[in-house]
Formats: sequence, structure tokens, C-alpha cells
Amino acid sequence: MSLRQIRVFPDPILRKKCRTVRRVDDKVRELAQDMLETMDAAGGVGLAANQVGALQRVVTLHLPGEESGIILVNPEIRDTQGEREVIEGCLSLPGYEGMVKRSMIVKARWLDENGSKIKVTAENLFAQALEHEVDHLNGILYVDHLHEHEKLAAAGTHIAEGQPHMHDLEVELHVEHNNDDSKPSESDVEVVHSTIKFSDLYSQSSVDQMQYDLRLAGYVLDSVKPLESETDLT
Ligand SMILES: [Zn+2]
Repeated sequence: MSLRQIRVFPDPILRKKCRTVRRVDDKVRELAQDMLETMDAAGGVGLAANQVGALQRVVTLHLPGEESGIILVNPEIRDTQGEREVIEGCLSLPGYEGMVKRSMIVKARWLDENGSKIKVTAENLFAQALEHEVDHLNGILYVDHLHEHEKLAAAGTHIAEGQPHMHDLEVELHVEHNNDDSKPSESDVEVVHSTIKFSDLYSQSSVDQMQYDLRLAGYVLDSVKPLESETDLT
């Protein structure tokens, strides 16, 4: 088992749809075990495979109070009931949380690590985590569910309405794959373009925090500039 790097926003892999797992084999089990270890080390409740760079429909969950985490292969939400507002965060958006609407009850099914079919009716955090992680597998982040961008705040703070904020940003990242023994050659540098939507991150301090988080994650941030075609959607 080994820890894998958790991809952070705006890494484009977080927007990719994961593929259905055809067979629950040793490779899938190895990925899932690494995910369990990575999730526990980060103190997360759930993790989806694209958050560690694997485009497969694999999720791990570890609910507080449970002795160990569980592995969900090809999880599907079959039915939902009710609605409630909950505060949510995500390991791929470190330091932020926001208010989203989630279901009261979620009926779901998946395959466990042995390929056995599991069916559950979940409530509370279990239901919330299932919706959050299945969203990840479809390239959806919780911030997509925020109805008002004011509701995204740095964890533990409350941002007043009407505070100045920024609009869509074009971001260019030079991702240097670390080679300790040599300077990076061209093949070690990957250029990633991404767009930050105004609804996702908006204040200068949020952008500063994001740049800081990206640097911590090993990214070199090249440029952050407003989109030319920005529209004020305040
Ligand atoms: Zn998440």
C-alpha cells in the first residue's frame, strides 16, 4: 500500500468522468487500498478515484465512529428522498466549505472489493458522502451545487454579502514532475490550462490561498489573469 497524491482544484482530472470497472481484480483492490490509506491520512470521510488521478469508478468511505473504511466499486444512486442543507468540504478544495442541498435518504448499490453486490439505504453523513463521491466520479464538485457564491467561504469564516469579489480567471500551471537528481527536462513539465469560475472562488484572499495550496501540492503557478470575456454575474 502507498499514499497517493490528492489532486486539488483546478486540476482538470477532477472534471473528468470515471469509467465503469469491468472486473474487480487485484489492480482495482490495490488502487482502493491506496485510496483508503490516502483518505485516512488526510482525515477525509470519502475519496473518489479521480481525486488520486485514476479514472475508474472507485470510491472509499470512512465514516466517523466506524472502525475501518469501505470500498465501493461502480457505486450508483438508485433513489433519493427529502432535502436538507448541509455544510460540505472536499479534500480537493482544501480550506473551504460551503452550504449545499443534499438528500435526506439515499438508496445506493455498488460492488465491494470482492465483487459482491451491496445495497444500502443511507441517511445523514453516509447519504451525503455517497452523493458527494458519486458526483466526483461524474466530474462534479460540491461547489457546482452552491446556489450563491457568497456561500463558499474559507473554512470557519463567514463572508458578508456585498463584499468585493473577482470574476472568472484563466489559470496556467506549469506542473513540474519532481526529479531530485536532475533539473526538469521538457518532458517533465506539463502545462495545464484551467478556468476558475467566479462561483467557485472569488475573493483575492481565496485566490491567494488557492495559489498557496497549489504550491504546497507541488504546482508552479505561472499566471492568473481575468478572462477577457468576463461577464459580471453578481
Ligand atoms: Zn470531494
